[in-house]
Amino acid sequence: MTSLSGKTDIDWRAAAEMLAPVEVLNEDAQIKKRSRDFFWYSPILTEALDACFGDLVAVPKTAEELAHCLKCAYALDMPVLARGGGTGNYGQAVPMDGGLILDMTAMNQVLEVGDGWVRAQAGILMDRVNDALKEHGQEMCMFPSTSNIATLGGFVAGGSAGIGSIANGVLRDPGNLMGLKVMDVTADPREHVFEGTDTLQIHHAWGLNGIITEVTLRTVPAEDWQGCIATFDSYEAAFGAGVALAHARDIGCKLISIVDARIVEYFPRLKKHIPAGRDLLVSMIPDRSRDAFRDVIEAQGGTADLILNDAERKAARIPHVYDFSYNHTTLQVLRKDRSATYQQYGCPLPLDAADVAKLRAALGDDVWMHHEFSRYEGDVTCADLPVIWYKDEAQLRAIDATYEAHGFPVYDAHTWQVEGGGLKSADYTHLAWKKRMDPKGLLNSAKSRAWGAVKDLTPEEIEARAAS
Ligand code: FAD
Repeated sequence: MTSLSGKTDIDWRAAAEMLAPVEVLNEDAQIKKRSRDFFWYSPILTEALDACFGDLVAVPKTAEELAHCLKCAYALDMPVLARGGGTGNYGQAVPMDGGLILDMTAMNQVLEVGDGWVRAQAGILMDRVNDALKEHGQEMCMFPSTSNIATLGGFVAGGSAGIGSIANGVLRDPGNLMGLKVMDVTADPREHVFEGTDTLQIHHAWGLNGIITEVTLRTVPAEDWQGCIATFDSYEAAFGAGVALAHARDIGCKLISIVDARIVEYFPRLKKHIPAGRDLLVSMIPDRSRDAFRDVIEAQGGTADLILNDAERKAARIPHVYDFSYNHTTLQVLRKDRSATYQQYGCPLPLDAADVAKLRAALGDDVWMHHEFSRYEGDVTCADLPVIWYKDEAQLRAIDATYEAHGFPVYDAHTWQVEGGGLKSADYTHLAWKKRMDPKGLLNSAKSRAWGAVKDLTPEEIEARAAS
């Protein structure tokens, strides 16, 4: 069997035999499908990654089977990467060096539920975790809007925040990510335990420094959540209401998203339920906060058009509010028109609707804003994930420059290297652990710009760079 990726000279037929009894998928269509994620949101990444494929897929069902896969990878020098639901946006799950793709979705059990925490295998879909928690009156402290198709391990390795983050902070905030088990890629693979803040040595490393097998995550009491849509006659007013709600902790919002009225034109199943041409505030609140929510919206000049529990929403045939939040907002537009893309920006603190209005005036019609509120280290923060009507990279970078000139930082979504986006610079703690857990550098190393310069150093020497 020749190399589908064209990047390895490994005999993949022999490799598949060596991997037995682990299930393997070796048809080109199966491998190609599992070599993709949502990088197609970006025209720049589409050009860079479209021709990158793995060579073989293995589907381990137990930690023992996973250890066998990693032992084989180590023995044959196979490039290897873990894959969950494949919903990452930066080509995180694309095998840059070809090789073995580990489909983690068969390691999918909830292992233990305690008071305020859940321990589960990394390949489980997050909706399944929440289903199991419901029986205990609890839910995950946060999860991405892709919770029906994305895995817990993929979220920890590639994600950062989500629904619940305005109440409970982002994943890296103390107490949220409580523990991880992570397997190394060595001659005799074994699991390492990371607890408390040590989990940050693995979190958001894009799977470059070990394969996560188990996650312990904070849970919170479940509430009778209501999906809410409020509308405003200006984006500035909607944003101001978002700031007010984010600070009103007693209301207990689990989600606050602001969406430009022009994007709403791409939400056909919502359109007949809300007035046309108005900017949206999308939220989730506990049932007990209906009146308080209405009061804040009205004080900011808006109207609370929909406040529905799940049964009412389904009866009205309205999609879940998740569909209008985080990267689902962009997806609604892309489903209709692939010429759009998006970008990720921060907002200067303290949050001020007037700053956003000034920036909007400078941006023109190619940028349609969409903001997500969250808490980080206790403070209310906000990210802008606008829809951008893309012409070419020069236009995108000019838009970035306008944001920066107004004090709004860029977290580039059009880069396939871990140092390029949210991290901005090399994380030497991640890389020191990569050296310990993956001494041969088999775990998708091309995804790190900094790895080449440190791969021959000891973990301690790499860590020293973090200190300097
Ligand atoms: P994958 O895409 O399969 O993998 C992501 C990364 O993790 C890859 O680098 C992969 O190699 C690595 N990985 C996967 N499993 C393991 C493992 N067991 N051990 C080690 N490494 C592993 N992100 C958010 O943070 N919040 C959101 O609200 C959000 N909304 C989204 C909405 C849409 C429509 C889309 C397309 C994306 C969104 N994302 C969001 C990004 C992404 O969906 C999440 O980060 C998601 O949790 C990734 O999980 P996954 O199982 O799909 O991971």
